[in-house]
Amino acid sequence: MEKRPFAELGLSPEVLKAVDKMGFEEASPIQTAVIPHGLAGRDVIGQSATGSGKTAAFAIPVIEKIDVSKRAVQALVLCPTRELAVQVAEEFGKLAYFKKGLLELPIYGGQSYERQYRGLAAGAQVVIGTPGRVMDHMQRGSLKLDNLKVVVLDEADRMLDMGFREDIEHILSSVPKSRQMLFFSATMPHLIQDLIKRHSRDPAWVRIEAHAANAPQVDQEFYEVDRRSKIEALTRLIDLHDFRYGIIFCSTKIMVDELDEHLHSRGYACDRLHGDLSQMQRDRVMEKFRRRAFEFLIATDVAARGLDVDDLEVVFNYDLPNDAEDYTHRIGRTGRAGKSGRAITFVSGREIYKLQSMAHYARLKISRGRVPSMGEVEEAREEVFLEKLRRLLDEKKFKSHDRIVDALLEQGYASTDIASALIHLLQGGATDAKAPAPAPAPERTAPKWVENKASAKSAPTARAMPTPRAEPPRSPAKSAAPESAPAPAAVSAKPTKKSYERKPRTGREPGFVTVSFNVGSAQLITPADLVGKVAGVTRLPAAVVGAIDIHENHTDADVAAEAAEIVIAKLEGIPLKGVKLKPALVTS
Ligand code: AMP
Repeated sequence: MEKRPFAELGLSPEVLKAVDKMGFEEASPIQTAVIPHGLAGRDVIGQSATGSGKTAAFAIPVIEKIDVSKRAVQALVLCPTRELAVQVAEEFGKLAYFKKGLLELPIYGGQSYERQYRGLAAGAQVVIGTPGRVMDHMQRGSLKLDNLKVVVLDEADRMLDMGFREDIEHILSSVPKSRQMLFFSATMPHLIQDLIKRHSRDPAWVRIEAHAANAPQVDQEFYEVDRRSKIEALTRLIDLHDFRYGIIFCSTKIMVDELDEHLHSRGYACDRLHGDLSQMQRDRVMEKFRRRAFEFLIATDVAARGLDVDDLEVVFNYDLPNDAEDYTHRIGRTGRAGKSGRAITFVSGREIYKLQSMAHYARLKISRGRVPSMGEVEEAREEVFLEKLRRLLDEKKFKSHDRIVDALLEQGYASTDIASALIHLLQGGATDAKAPAPAPAPERTAPKWVENKASAKSAPTARAMPTPRAEPPRSPAKSAAPESAPAPAAVSAKPTKKSYERKPRTGREPGFVTVSFNVGSAQLITPADLVGKVAGVTRLPAAVVGAIDIHENHTDADVAAEAAEIVIAKLEGIPLKGVKLKPALVTS
């Protein structure tokens, strides 16, 4: 189905800028088909499922038609539910971001009339509402439609199902005859066709069919995950299955960049592909991906189009694709050459309906999966490690180190202790027994170039943890004498050097010290961002971070005293919200 760049659709620079800011790389099929008719002033009937990008398909021409110098309602969008009205209003807000003076206003039942009166009186030009409440305002005289240029019916079939038929008829017969009509409906039952016939003139029919493409031999699963937990779910699944070669699809360039940053800082070897990269950069990334110089390619649909790679173990739909066609296109990249592949799709909130409708149209079998617990991931990692060790022992493909082993045995160390200590070291363990044991390392050996790139960006987890000094910062609760017995000033003629020594500032709870990070509210940091980063990079449990105080340009986080040194060393230079971290122990 045809998709075109937004730049070819005759849009204003303001809208083009907004679309780019939203990270959309090209118009979806429904947008490609509807926008030109919408701009030309023609009535349109758009038949396509939710999730196809239909909101922008009608919102863009509507925004282009609004005269911002006029403070009167010029567009009315009718939606079946308050949730949809709010969602559509948000999309309008984003698309009209650079069109100064455009006001959009959602009006729906359940919200106070006061707020809606105020919004209408302020001169909203685009009203997005549920039919009942729109009627109310019309009858109260607070909503005047004499200047209306365009009416949109979003999810018309649902509105009729919900019993809004009379309201809609009433509204449509009260608006100026010269208005343009845009109807959107997933299905076209008789009632809708009848409504369209009576309220439109020579409409253009745009029907976006989801192809029932043949999905290859792919094991398809979906996981319902909260938006904020996607990264955690992704890394757990990668670790659980020990995936080493796959594509992760995101819907926008911004998401691709963000995910690339997150995965890097968690030690995964990945690179990205999206429309902002030059052809040369893309070719370079692809060449490296083909020779498996990194494990995961994070890409948008556009960038990955025509991409020819075989043997992918997995395709992740980190963000849902636009339609069933894109879905089958994406997952078709795994399970080639007779091998069975795997496709893993994340859905959050309402997206489950979109996935269901795609599965229905394209007759896909997608089973529900459960995100593994940390314990399950660790068990699986241990299993992978054990298997590798067994294979190595069976095949005897290793250099003998008898001299070292014999020396240790002679010194009286048990062979089981020697082996355990080596595994501990291998897994990035510290040489200080008091330091908290890290979770078994993912055993990811990042290829050479990743090390280079990572040294600028972040340190892959595969690297050994920095060895903490023999004496880690002690828990302030158990801290040394100067704290518990301050020398009375009058007595101490000349304070000893020791009493001036700076001590870690005690955290709010015993056993915690405070670490300061050079990111804050100015970077829109949240506690979850910081905890996620610490846990992800250090592989320590999230509980090592305690109370968090976010300031404008820095954040003070309480960190378990025995983990502070590791946290500081491992997070140094790691990017968070575009800032290279410089963590420092707060002293008093
Ligand atoms: P809708 O069908 O309007 O509910 O849109 C579904 C999702 O797709 C929304 O999150 C939109 O922001 C997103 N979307 C719409 N158009 C595009 C596009 N051209 N490229 C990428 N994402 C889009």
